[in-house]
Formats: sequence, structure tokens, C-alpha cells
Amino acid sequence: MGRGHRTGCAVGGNRLLACQFVTATESAPAKERWRAQWAELFSEVVTSGLCTGCAGCIVACPHDVLGYDDTNGVYKPFHLEEELGPADCGHGQRGCTSCTRACPRFRNWETEIDTFMFGRERQPEEQAGMSKDVFLARATDPELHSNGQDGGLVSAILLWCLDHGRIDAALVSMLEGDGSTWKAVPGIARTREEILASAGSRYTYSANTLAYVQAIEDGAERLALVGMSCQASVPGVMKARKAGKVARRLALSIGLLCSKTFDDAIFEELFEAKYGLKKADMVKMNIKGVFQIWMRDGSYHEIPLKECHAWTREGCKLCPDFAAEHADISTGGIGAFNDWTLTVVRTDAGREIIDGMIADGAIETRPGDDDPGAIALMRKLSTVSRRRWPETAVAAPRLGVPPAKPTASGH
Ligand SMILES: Cc1cc2nc3c(=O)[nH]c(=O)nc-3n(C[C@H](O)[C@H](O)[C@H](O)COP(=O)(O)OP(=O)(O)OC[C@H]3O[C@@H](n4cnc5c(N)ncnc54)[C@H](O)[C@@H]3O)c2cc1C
Ligand code: SF4
Ligand code: SF4
Repeated sequence: MGRGHRTGCAVGGNRLLACQFVTATESAPAKERWRAQWAELFSEVVTSGLCTGCAGCIVACPHDVLGYDDTNGVYKPFHLEEELGPADCGHGQRGCTSCTRACPRFRNWETEIDTFMFGRERQPEEQAGMSKDVFLARATDPELHSNGQDGGLVSAILLWCLDHGRIDAALVSMLEGDGSTWKAVPGIARTREEILASAGSRYTYSANTLAYVQAIEDGAERLALVGMSCQASVPGVMKARKAGKVARRLALSIGLLCSKTFDDAIFEELFEAKYGLKKADMVKMNIKGVFQIWMRDGSYHEIPLKECHAWTREGCKLCPDFAAEHADISTGGIGAFNDWTLTVVRTDAGREIIDGMIADGAIETRPGDDDPGAIALMRKLSTVSRRRWPETAVAAPRLGVPPAKPTASGH
């Protein structure tokens, strides 16, 4: 007879569950050892269409055998060693599992991160993820506010966290060179000037996670990661699956609401070819129902989003996360108030930072009730994104998603 295990205590059909003396070790199903490595990541995520290009696997790899292809709209990891070909990894065969532990699209990622971060699984009605507060915010510093895409909140958070010793640096997106190519590239912000240089939104992909390596080489230990929803889940998945010191260093995740990014080719092939708008002359862009473009000569242009869809980046096509559901703080620009940031605080760490910023006068806020339409739209767009997640993959991201309405043709 096992320790603490009384015989003959069967109630109903299940002897073990009904027995109150069963020990935890005996009753809990043995946790399967995590063995998945690059070979599984390659077949289940990288080549299946689920890969977003977030670069979590690359920075987590302790053997530096993963590269990143950001040419011609690829934005995917690849294996650098020729030993076993592109689809397998010798270190993986010898027991290394870091890349799959760091991938926010591998197997049951959503449930694992939710359970780790929030202590429970997402409920069907929580289409935009779990949160503590939803409100509007903007930076009180006029320069941060005017440089920011919406309310300059993200920039204000980074500056406040640097000034208060919460982080040593932030992994952000910058523009390559003098900015005239509009090529968004990962970068590091350690100063007010660098934060200001990174402010605003680019609608092509920038795998900010990749800046981790340089930031650590430069001596940073605590980092904030700014990124679209796919990247905002990287710290959470690494922590949930115990991916080691990379996970510990990603101290704060700031998410950007996101339904898609575009291929870099959209500049030449659509904006210039059809509308004569050269990227070197663009000064700002935004998406508010249409693609808005402001030019150096003061002119303003609107391109219908329908025309842009053909340039949707491959890695976005199956992405189910609009609301950056695993960020500490998620931020967006939808709603009635252009110069405010729609703000979703999800974790205690996020709430503590926002409370500190309010107390210091670094941001001003107004209640989410001032713009209920923005919150409703966030939920709606979250459902729209979840519908993209394929039925052949794990079910969790589609939980609570109603079936799509039939079209006029009945399909
Ligand atoms: C590609 C993309 C799609 C988006 N889609 C939506 C949407 O559909 N609906 C919505 O409500 N909001 C969307 N947003 C978020 C919105 O544009 C603002 O980023 C957000 O409201 C924060 O504004 P802010 O003024 O507080 O930020 P700011 O103070 O301007 O800071 C913005 C931060 O975003 C980072 N960043 C900018 N471009 C990129 C990029 N391409 N890749 C990675 N990081 C970047 C910068 O490094 C900077 O740290 C999107 C953002 C991006 C980048
Ligand atoms: S989704 Fe991110 S972590 Fe997963 S394989 Fe793609 S780049 Fe790597
Ligand atoms: S839609 Fe946005 S969040 Fe999703 S994969 Fe594309 S860039 Fe990432």
C-alpha cells in the first residue's frame, strides 16, 4: 500500500480521485519532461505558417546557432549549422530545448502563459485578454507627447523606468540611417534622446527582441521590451517555460495593439507606384481606418486599407493576438481621442509603474468610460484576429470566438 493511500475508498468510478488520503505526488499526473527542440519548432511553427518572426527563439538560443532572415519580407529564424540540415539541431538532439521554451506560438502557448501570468486560463468573453484596468493616458512632457504616435505613453513609461532605475535599457524600434528609407530596425534606448528617436509607429516589422544581444553586451541587466502583440508574449512565455536568464532580464513587456504589419515593398509598389509618394519625403504615418501619410511638403494623403492588404506580411496572417494580451501594459491608438493612448494594464508590475507615474505627474489619465467605443472596438478586433488562428492548431486561442457570419453566397 502506498504512503497515505487508503485502500477500498472507491466512490463512483474513480478510486484515486475519491480518496482523500492520496498524496499530491501520487495523484498529480507526472509532468512530462520538456524535450521539444529546434526540429519540432521548425516543423510545427517556422514552416507551418504560425511563426510571427518575433525572434524569441533566436535570443534564447545559448549556442548561437539561430540566425534571422529579414530580407524580402521573410522575417523568420533559420538554423546556421550545416551538420544536420535546416530542420534539425545537434544541440537539440543532445537535450537543448531553449528555442521552444521561448516561442510564443509553440503548442499550448496561450494557456501556459495565461496560467503563469494570471493564475488561470482565459475565459471565453476575455477576447482581449485579462486585464486590471483600461483607461486613456498621455505624457505630460510636451516633447514626449508630440513625438509619440498617440499620447506618447510608451515613451513616457520608458523614460520614467530609466529615471527610476527600473530598467537599464529598452529594446525598441528605430529607423535605419537618417530615416529616409523608412526601414524599421531593432534598437536600444538608454537615454531621453534615444527614446525620442524611437517614438512613433512604423507599420513594417521590427523584431525589437533582437536588440537584446547588443543591450546585454553593453552591460544592461534589466530590459523593457517594446513590441507588437507577438513580441509582447516573449517575456511571458520564457518565464512560464523557465527559459533561464534571458527571461529574467526581460523585466517589462510593453505591447502595441496590432492587427498586421506590411511588407517593406509597400512603399515602392503601392505608395510610390500608384500615388507618387516617395518614402524619403514622408514624415509621419498612422492607421485610422485608412493608411494616413504626412509628407515633408505639408501635404496629407489617405490610402484605403483595402488597397494595402495585398502587402500584409506573411507572419501576420495567422496571428490571433490583437490586444498584446501578455504585455504588462498594452497600448493602442483606436478611439475617439487622437492624442491619447488607449492603455490596458494587465499585471501588478504594470500597475505599480502607472501608479508611480501618475503620482509623479509624468502622465495624465482619463477613464475608459470616456470612450466606450474604443474598448468595444478593441474587443471586436481581438475576435477578428483570433479567427485567423487555424483550427488545426491548439484550440485555446479560438476559445469564445463565434463562428464567422455567413457571406451573401452562404460561405
Ligand atoms: C505595426 C504596428 C501596428 C499597430 N496597430 C495598431 C492598431 O491596429 N490599433 C491600435 O489601436 N494601435 C495600433 N498600434 C499601436 C499604436 O500605433 C501606438 O504604438 C500605441 O498607441 C502607442 O502610442 P504611444 O504614443 O503611447 O507610443 P510612442 O511613445 O510613440 O512609442 C511607440 C513605441 O513603439 C515602438 N515601435 C514603433 N514602430 C514599431 C515597429 N514597427 N515595431 C516594433 N516597435 C515599434 C517604438 O520603438 C516606440 O518605443 C500599432 C503599432 C505598430 C507599431
Ligand atoms: S514565433 Fe518567434 S520564437 Fe517562434 S519560431 Fe517564430 S521567431 Fe522563433
Ligand atoms: S499581426 Fe502584429 S502582433 Fe500579430 S504577428 Fe503581425 S506584427 Fe505580430
